[in-house]
Amino acid sequence: MAGRLTGKVALISGGAGGCGLAASELFAAEGARVGIVDLPSSRGAAVAEAIRAAGGEAVFAPADVSVSGEVTAAVRAVEAAFGNITVLFNHAGILAVGPFLETEEAEWDRLMAVNVRSMFLMTKAVLPGMIAAGGGSIVCTSSISAVAATPMEVLYDTTKGACHMFARAIAVEFRDRGIRCNAVCPGFIATDHGRREIAGLSRYGIDVSDAAIAAQQGRLCEPVEVARAALFLASDEASFVSGTHLFVDNAFTAV
Ligand code: NAD
Repeated sequence: MAGRLTGKVALISGGAGGCGLAASELFAAEGARVGIVDLPSSRGAAVAEAIRAAGGEAVFAPADVSVSGEVTAAVRAVEAAFGNITVLFNHAGILAVGPFLETEEAEWDRLMAVNVRSMFLMTKAVLPGMIAAGGGSIVCTSSISAVAATPMEVLYDTTKGACHMFARAIAVEFRDRGIRCNAVCPGFIATDHGRREIAGLSRYGIDVSDAAIAAQQGRLCEPVEVARAALFLASDEASFVSGTHLFVDNAFTAV
């Protein structure tokens, strides 16, 4: 039976954990051949093995997505395994929580590198092959934080604002070469990242209690709910959807 991504080659950054892991499993189940790019210390190899054991196709290409040489090597490894990449999910990202005046320059640079430079490096490495393949779909993980600021998150919010616009700008520049590019923008998710964020904000007295989360978005988002939104944007079902921001936040930003 044909899946929604049959015939696609998908590279998922951060594909070994959180929503990236959910996407690796879901995209493979929908017929994509999946390249998982994540840190060497991640569970990437085991995730790829589990997907293969379940009858899917996946390889793990370890890389720190903020390092140019490692990104290029990982993209080439996925292309060598499966051919040109036609779906790119730029998902890897990290968090910083703390008072703006205590934010160190090194922390600023690190977050910008992992959350923003990574999208530049990954997209630049993938696009030539994607164009040669006749086109493709890029999905970038932004956040509610791109449009709704949280105290203690100036740095993180700034990186997500950049991801938000990166997706739109790529969509415009490459529309006539068969490339679609969109962003998914989740609210608080039940992943390591989400739990670290809630714990960090609580330490600074920001109300992210269960009741506050329930008031803002009903409940925590499940990782697969982000993966399903990314799947739609990655698939041909979204053939006329490009340059958009798909909020996966149960109306957090609709208020
Ligand atoms: P997660 O922390 O559960 O998973 C992130 C994955 O990225 C991990 O497998 C990790 O190893 C990998 N990763 C981290 N740094 C990397 C690097 N330098 N190179 C390669 N891989 C790296 O997180 P998640 O909840 O899936 O969130 C990840 C993305 O989702 C980020 O872009 C984040 O901004 C965004 N997001 C998360 C939330 C949330 O509440 N969790 C909300 C909105 C947006």
